[in-house]
Amino acid sequence: MGDLSEEMRMPTACPECGSHSVRLSEAHNPDDKVFCSSCNTLRGQYADLQKELENKPKSEAERLLEEVVNKKSDAPDQS
Ligand SMILES: [Zn+2]
Repeated sequence: MGDLSEEMRMPTACPECGSHSVRLSEAHNPDDKVFCSSCNTLRGQYADLQKELENKPKSEAERLLEEVVNKKSDAPDQS
């Protein structure tokens, strides 16, 4: 606290410890380095993190949607 950093949750887990929490500067510069808040592994730059936040939830939602559609078309719906 007071060190001008904040924590965020990433859609991807840290390759080293599996944590989704990352620590980054409050300045939010695109080239700010983002570190795992649990083991301090470098996770990438803030611009990369933003890209992940934009892309990952969407692709996951689409995948889930596809699964639901496939299930519905497979099973005969009697209701
Ligand atoms: Zn980690």
